[in-house]
Amino acid sequence: MKILILGAGGREHTFAYKLAQSPKCSQLFVAPGNAGTAEISENIDLKVTDFKAIKDFVLKEKIEMLVVGPEDPLVEGITDFFAEDDALNSVKVIGPSKRGALLEGSKERAKEFMAMHKIPTAAYESFTEKSLEAGKEFLETLNPPYVLKADGLAAGKGVLIINDLEEAKQELQNMLAEKKFGAASAKVVIEEFLDGIELSVFVLTDGKNYKILPTAKDYKRIGEGDTGLNTGGMGAISPVPFVDEELMQKIEERIVKPTVNGLQEEDIDYKGFVFIGLIMVKNDPYVIEYNVRMGDPETEVVLPRIKSDLVDIFVKVSEEKLNEASLEIDERTATTVMLVSGGYPEAYEKSKEITGFDKVEDSIVFHAGTKFEGDKVVTSGGRVIAVTSFGKDYKEALKKSYQNVEKLHFDKMYYRKDLGFDLS
Ligand code: AMP
Repeated sequence: MKILILGAGGREHTFAYKLAQSPKCSQLFVAPGNAGTAEISENIDLKVTDFKAIKDFVLKEKIEMLVVGPEDPLVEGITDFFAEDDALNSVKVIGPSKRGALLEGSKERAKEFMAMHKIPTAAYESFTEKSLEAGKEFLETLNPPYVLKADGLAAGKGVLIINDLEEAKQELQNMLAEKKFGAASAKVVIEEFLDGIELSVFVLTDGKNYKILPTAKDYKRIGEGDTGLNTGGMGAISPVPFVDEELMQKIEERIVKPTVNGLQEEDIDYKGFVFIGLIMVKNDPYVIEYNVRMGDPETEVVLPRIKSDLVDIFVKVSEEKLNEASLEIDERTATTVMLVSGGYPEAYEKSKEITGFDKVEDSIVFHAGTKFEGDKVVTSGGRVIAVTSFGKDYKEALKKSYQNVEKLHFDKMYYRKDLGFDLS
């Protein structure tokens, strides 16, 4: 099978790594990819939202499976674009239709979906510029902190959590009237603050059947002890040690089943991943968000734990026979440590040479923001490299990741040294 992966991050390198292991994968392309994907597949210089260029490439190369990494092409309807074109509709697309992708593309839609299918989530109301004053009055009825969410995609920056009422009102105004996040904040969801521990659950579904993938926990803040600015993710651990079978059953019954049943009841074509962000409030799970693709860096710990052939699983997804697929999980813990450019998530420099790859032992190096300059690998983004390791528990796995991190080097390299600090 000839496979094309869309995307350029650590998530896509991990997909490429898993798919390339399958004897069923005859040729693998990643668009646009990075220096890591270039070593195990062929990088193609295409924009992930340029559907016309993707179509031309797919037809030219006779691509049989398209795996969509990031949310943008999904929200813009790449799956429908393939389904509606006679020349493309035999391609197996892993990624939901536009209606499915709206669970991530619109926070308000996600809240309505949860209300309709009785999925536990924080109480909310949504507002537009016209109802700005009503929004401010609504804030007065809530207890701090106040949670304001831009309705649309805002590159992970659209959620504000604010302690002060006056500041919350001002930010609401900035979002609705001053378009702080552009069109994404033309509508704002204000919701009740939930106090508890966060975790992520990943589900693969064909729209009818589902498989729950290993749980993972990521570390979002740039600073140690979970301080400082939010990032795309500084590392991850799978499984989450505090999730036991009883809790997993609760999550499956109260959240996963009604989600998949809801997709089916609403006749939504959904063949892909659902990444469910949860907060545990006194042992009860509440959904804080849906994403319609895998997380990054969670992919770098979840996929390496899947022992089964990923091509086989994806074929079953596209045939709506996921119930027939086998999903064998490695019992060991996987951890990943993200190396980032100094200064990230604010301004940082690029084109720094990365060295030490040949010294890494017993870890997997996934590339995120890297590219080749001649035969040197250089940095090309904020998040640069994820170092994934296995161990009997998270401490052993992290120790291995950190030992190997020290063998890699680039100018102004930064990473968090305290992953797992909140687990013991
Ligand atoms: P989201 O993009 O919806 O996941 O929100 C980003 C982050 O904001 C989450 O990872 C949580 O840490 C936090 N958050 C979102 N909604 C809530 C809520 N209702 N209560 C508490 N924290 C929240």
